[in-house]
Amino acid sequence: MTTLADRLKDADLLKTDSFINGQWVGADTRFAVNSPGDRSHLADVADVGGAGARSAIDAADKAFKGWGKTSVFERARIVQRWHDLILEHADDLGTLITAEMGKPFGEAKGEVTYGAGFVNWSAEEAKRLHGETLQTPFPGTRGWTVRQPVGVVVCITPWNFPSAMITRKCGPALAAGCSVVVKPAPETPLSALALAELARRAGFPDGVFNVICGDAKAIGEVMTSSDAVRMVGFTGSTEVGKLLMRQAADGVKRVSLELGGNAPFIIMDDADLDAAADGVIASKFRAAGQTCVSANRIIAQAGIADALIERVTERMKKLKVGSGFESGVQIGPLIHDEAVERVDALVQDAKGKGAKVLVGGSPMADELGGSFYAPTLIESGSNFSLSIANSEIFGPVASVYRVESEEEIIRLANSTPYGLAAYVYTRDIGRVHRLSEGLEFGMVGVNAPMVGSPATPFGGVKESGIGREGGKWGVEEFTELKFVLLGGVNK
Ligand code: ADP
Repeated sequence: MTTLADRLKDADLLKTDSFINGQWVGADTRFAVNSPGDRSHLADVADVGGAGARSAIDAADKAFKGWGKTSVFERARIVQRWHDLILEHADDLGTLITAEMGKPFGEAKGEVTYGAGFVNWSAEEAKRLHGETLQTPFPGTRGWTVRQPVGVVVCITPWNFPSAMITRKCGPALAAGCSVVVKPAPETPLSALALAELARRAGFPDGVFNVICGDAKAIGEVMTSSDAVRMVGFTGSTEVGKLLMRQAADGVKRVSLELGGNAPFIIMDDADLDAAADGVIASKFRAAGQTCVSANRIIAQAGIADALIERVTERMKKLKVGSGFESGVQIGPLIHDEAVERVDALVQDAKGKGAKVLVGGSPMADELGGSFYAPTLIESGSNFSLSIANSEIFGPVASVYRVESEEEIIRLANSTPYGLAAYVYTRDIGRVHRLSEGLEFGMVGVNAPMVGSPATPFGGVKESGIGREGGKWGVEEFTELKFVLLGGVNK
């Protein structure tokens, strides 16, 4: 039987202990990591718990004192080395993602490259963290601003992008001069630990970059209550984000939260319908629909709804479902069996309330031997009260709605507590402006099904979060703006 280590070109990237203060630290308690694609056991990872969190934060606190003061050029060299090593080992990092999370290998490798882009960008961008000289009202004074690193940052990350959600936070944090403690999701610790091994090789001083695995609640409590921690970066559910925000409030820690979404994918009657159907497939089925920016409500203007459904159906029938390691597969498994049950419950509920299932509509676990769900297309009419319209589907289920007017489309699209990504397909320039301005979302893709890149701001409004990752904003997020007033300048 091929083990995970056998699949790697560099088996040393397979780590199962936590990385604290430059050392690999084990624990008596371990938790199993299993592959959602075939249910095989991959590894037993040490749970270092609250005690591990404490020692990692202590190490990060000590390390920050030096790292925060090094020249940005020196820091950027090490951050850049980390980037280069990530790309050099993209095959292995992709293999780890596919094994523990399930997404197709090509997509997994794409995630590695995408995530590495933030590391590279940040290494460059941190050199441009400029201050300004300011006018002052007081005679004989001068004023200026400087940007300084926030301090010790903790990052709590999800399983759907096991690699990129870490690099997207840690690239800018490290380049800005912060030290970091990462807690990855229990489903996908191996990608995080491999990144730690590459950070070790890149030459970060001990304690600057730490990865700890284990009990989320215990670790989260230590992280949010420690005086040394100045910032909590989180990507995950809105529920846990709110909890962490409440916990961080006592110490008035900075929070950067990237939470759930309920993306409307709007197709207006003047749209290029082939491009829109391609967009639906790209947005809906990447990572089997398990992304916070996945199309959640496909809103077609009534006149073109049938033509769109026909095009989407045609494309969906060609999607290949299976193990992420099998060539040609576009849809891998969901993260675990509970996810399959949750997605199926949404589909059955919609069906019971009158929605029509046009493609798929059931689990494929029995035939494929893993946590699979068939790519599914549902026609939900104009029933926006369905659970499937109001919860994040996080699965390969496309639910299409029909709405007549532009005003009603904007109103319905905004009728959610979430505000992460929205998509609009139209060729009318007036509509481009009216919709992109009217939609209460942090990002709007117009005739574009994907919105994230290292150079651009990623983040949400309303209950989808606070803060932005990417671009100059993603680096600034990890800095404090300090004002200095100098007196006694006049003789
Ligand atoms: P999902 O439901 O997609 O797994 P979560 O928000 O539960 O999303 O998980 C995202 C990250 O938050 C994971 O690393 C998880 O371990 C962590 N997490 C979950 N609960 C807590 C908690 N109480 N305190 C700190 N971290 C938590």
